[in-house]
Amino acid sequence: MPTTVKGVVALSEKQPAELLDIIIPDPGPNDVVVDIEATGVCHTDLAYRDGGINDEFPFLLGHESAGRVSQIGENVTHVEIGDYVVLNWRAVCGECRACKKGVQQYCFATHNASKPMTLTDGTKLTAALGIGSFAEKTLVHEGQCTKVSEDAPAEVAGLLGCGVMAGIGAAINTGQVQRGESLAVIGLGGVGCAAIAGARLAGATTIIGLDVDEKKLAAAEELGATHTVLTKGLSPQQVAEKVQELTDGFGADVVVDAVGIPQTYETAFYARDLAGRVVLVGVPARTWS
Ligand SMILES: [Zn+2]
Ligand SMILES: [Zn+2]
Repeated sequence: MPTTVKGVVALSEKQPAELLDIIIPDPGPNDVVVDIEATGVCHTDLAYRDGGINDEFPFLLGHESAGRVSQIGENVTHVEIGDYVVLNWRAVCGECRACKKGVQQYCFATHNASKPMTLTDGTKLTAALGIGSFAEKTLVHEGQCTKVSEDAPAEVAGLLGCGVMAGIGAAINTGQVQRGESLAVIGLGGVGCAAIAGARLAGATTIIGLDVDEKKLAAAEELGATHTVLTKGLSPQQVAEKVQELTDGFGADVVVDAVGIPQTYETAFYARDLAGRVVLVGVPARTWS
């Protein structure tokens, strides 16, 4: 039986999102229904609401979440009812040329739920990033579920679904930070702090956190920053000079821009070692060397 639950829906561009009844259809053969226990609020949800991603309104917002599987389709083998899971944006196919090359992040045939969730009048909803977790329940492909330890509180585990993955991936996968290298991060929100944690995991020895907000520097230090710089009032060149001072005059081997505005792009390019890499986290994350 389809289920009616509450969800947060952006009906049209730049208008306040609304709490509405939404209908979760019965799962298709490889779909599962997940009861959402916690969901983060990510800037990308705001970008959907403001028409910055695409025009496929109405959107069911939310995409950084953890919950429990409550219904499964007939062919589902990846999870069982009751499993505690983090939701992923897309399930990779495992068969396309990107998957076969081992770069599943570029999969050309990712899976989402086979049916749309709808408003009560039948209007199809577009689930943000193929998830739509600002709701009591959501419908996803089984491959979008990753089982995690019951010991992790949902409000923490859910962050693995977006901010943590984006930041750690920027440092380790896109930036390819190596043991003994230096990394500077511009912007110490969730993504920036995760990039710092990633650099620490990778064994970087000089990890510099940069932010205009003094309050954010302490969190970065807790997660592994060896140095922090308050950049309020500084020009891109001045910020770069601070980074150079901390890296024997060369600039950082990897600079992650976790803000994504022209001034921070500029800062990132000035602050890198000439042989270093810049990672722009955003839409989409790309690297230049
Ligand atoms: Zn997000
Ligand atoms: Zn694929």
